[in-house]
Amino acid sequence: MSDQICQRCGETVELSREDYEIFERMHFECFHFAFEHDLHKPGAAEDEDCGDPVCPAGA
Ligand SMILES: [Zn+2]
Ligand SMILES: [Zn+2]
Repeated sequence: MSDQICQRCGETVELSREDYEIFERMHFECFHFAFEHDLHKPGAAEDEDCGDPVCPAGA
């Protein structure tokens, strides 16, 4: 039923169609890593908290 595939990791995205489009057809986490993570902390690894409160890597 779901044909929403993440453009970054290739996994199925279980979001509403609207949210899926908002996040550039990615998971929220993938969108963050693709567009925001480096902005907050250039060169940050994906398991490193970039300082953004929404960062998936944050504690
Ligand atoms: Zn993804
Ligand atoms: Zn981050």
